[in-house]
Amino acid sequence: MSEPAPGAPAPKSLPKSLPQKAMEKLGLLRDIDLALHLPLRYEDETRITPINEAHEGEPVQCEGEVTECRVDLRGRRQLLVRLEDGGEPLLLRFIHFYPSHQKSLAVGKRVRVRGEVRHGFFGREMVHPQFKAVHEDTPLAQALTPVYPSSASLPQAYLRKAVAAGLRRADLHELLPPGVVPAKLPTLREALNFLHHPPPQAQLSTLEDHSHPAWQRLKFEELLAQQLSQQQAQRERALLHAPALRAQAGGVVERLLAALPFSLTNAQRRVSEEIAQDLALPQPMHRLLQGDVGSGKTVVAALAAAVTIDSGWQCVLMAPTEILAEQHFKKLIGWLEPLGLQIAWLTGSVKGRARQKMLDAAADGSAQLIIGTHAVIEDKVKFAKLGLAIIDEQHRFGVAQRLALRKKLATGFAAGPPQDEARPLGGQEPQATWGPSTPLEPHLLMMSATPIPRTLAMTYFADLAVSTIDELPPGRSPIITKVFADGKRPNVIEKIRDEVAQGAQVYWVCPLIEESEALDLNNATETHAELSLALPDKTVGLLHGRMPPAEKAAVMAQFSGGEMQVLVATTVIEVGVDVPNASLMVIEHAERFGLSQLHQLRGRVGRGAKASVCVLLYTGPLSQTGKDRLRAMAETNDGFEIARRDLDIRGPGEFMGARQSGAELLRFADLQDDAPLLQAARRLAPLLLDQHPQAATQQVTRWLGSKAEFLKA
Ligand code: ADP
Ligand code: MG
Repeated sequence: MSEPAPGAPAPKSLPKSLPQKAMEKLGLLRDIDLALHLPLRYEDETRITPINEAHEGEPVQCEGEVTECRVDLRGRRQLLVRLEDGGEPLLLRFIHFYPSHQKSLAVGKRVRVRGEVRHGFFGREMVHPQFKAVHEDTPLAQALTPVYPSSASLPQAYLRKAVAAGLRRADLHELLPPGVVPAKLPTLREALNFLHHPPPQAQLSTLEDHSHPAWQRLKFEELLAQQLSQQQAQRERALLHAPALRAQAGGVVERLLAALPFSLTNAQRRVSEEIAQDLALPQPMHRLLQGDVGSGKTVVAALAAAVTIDSGWQCVLMAPTEILAEQHFKKLIGWLEPLGLQIAWLTGSVKGRARQKMLDAAADGSAQLIIGTHAVIEDKVKFAKLGLAIIDEQHRFGVAQRLALRKKLATGFAAGPPQDEARPLGGQEPQATWGPSTPLEPHLLMMSATPIPRTLAMTYFADLAVSTIDELPPGRSPIITKVFADGKRPNVIEKIRDEVAQGAQVYWVCPLIEESEALDLNNATETHAELSLALPDKTVGLLHGRMPPAEKAAVMAQFSGGEMQVLVATTVIEVGVDVPNASLMVIEHAERFGLSQLHQLRGRVGRGAKASVCVLLYTGPLSQTGKDRLRAMAETNDGFEIARRDLDIRGPGEFMGARQSGAELLRFADLQDDAPLLQAARRLAPLLLDQHPQAATQQVTRWLGSKAEFLKA
């Protein structure tokens, strides 16, 4: 298309047709997107099978002359057409038909039909075949006919044309220098031409299982684009500056360690050391702290905050929910306030004067630690000297939110600290690279109980340093998980009665708060009523997402204080709640939860010395993935094993909040199956970035388009 002349009136844009809109929805915007929209399968229109030779149940194409065409009125009204090619006739049967069918299939017409043959009462027949009028010499297709992933409002014929046109127009020139592509793979253009229009003799099995060299080339290209964008992000980050933070002799770190009521596990000590080493560098840390639920991440976060405060900088801790933020707040206040530190608390429900006070304390630097929900990243919030940002349960934040946070933190600091304060309060030597005009970014520590499987850590998160707590604090007893059909509910309630009589506390988790017409789920309110009735002399509480924060907090306080024996809750308790005396958890409609969510929920029990039990109630029949999930829960308590199985069941798309971005991570390649290609792409990426930076950029744009930003989050 040519650019309109300057000053010319803008052309009126035509309203978009349905198929156009459907294509947009599928992300088919650019020519390259169309060229990379690959067939699901193929139909063979390259040959004609004589009717005699068509095997039952096999899709075939036949051709012949119509010798009879009539509407049959006995029984169900239908159009019956007899087609003959010299041998046995073929009966075409249409239950849905229009007058146009009768016209196209009138006696004497020559037609080509495609469908599955079956042996009916009247001989060979096809029900609702595809058909088209032909002449004796109408040519056959030269290539297999592609069938593309599509949607209801996007006909295959339309999509085929659009893809063919996109494939012709797309810029597919070779971006990679000679000799770097794994041996014997075709060029991208050859690969795409082949996959969109394979010749009749192509081996369908290698096309379907994606082992064909043309597929290998595509997967390699995709993996390369992903590696390039990761490694580029890593290089960009290495150019940024951050304050170098160190613990001081006799400072907050030492005093916190001395005041803790327990000693650190070896794993906690090791990861704290890894974090301290990063904080001491003048580049921003970008580290994930992963550890199973209950492994003790909070104290590691507190130590990182202490290092920051020791150096005269501020720390912010962001949690995904108010309840979780409040738990941190209480715990950290308990540890840090006795040491004389100022902690501010900022969530959506802190309003008015209290809010202003918190904002002032963050902005003038009097608060050394700020704890809150995503309220801490709002525009109004300014920090005097932000040195470290900690995100708890970071996978619960969407990719877009994480991006917003990083941008926010970067701009919040664009001006750098006031010059006269540029020297950290600890009186250390300023870093050589650090001048008053250098923009500073805070260090970033992300925490998650959902470990990233190794293959993903190596690839998508190659840009992320990972510390792992692989050991639980001493004195925990393993959780026993049992799976029951909902019919066992009365027995489960009996068990609750026993447990509560012995002083234990119980969580009961429900998936939804209000009866929905579509999903007839037992809701939390009903279950609450049921349990209150069954346990008349005990306190049964209710906690759900729609309650005002103050009410939620009151219920939580009662439960953690031990005045409440049973807590019926929706998934608001999913994260971070810490009540060691709770030793039984029941999850109803467990089949509705994802695997990592179930594991997180289960982690609320097993925090004390008492042996804990988790009961998963399901309402059948279960889907295969539902069965797989519940079996995984019953078989293992290990968060890493759970994550591995989750990856098997769901594929990689949903880790690290990628789901929310709507961007599928990998379309063609599979991190496990295509490990050799991945290795090759990993090795090639730095070479391209160094020696062919322009080709590297083009490769990323070609493959990732607008998704490239997301991969950096
Ligand atoms: P998570 O990793 O799930 O966030 P928490 O930080 O909430 O776990 O820790 C779970 C519980 O274990 C808390 O009650 C915490 O105080 C306790 N804890 C943490 N570290 C230790 C330790 N080294 N020894 C004993 N208890 C610990
Ligand atoms: Mg936690």
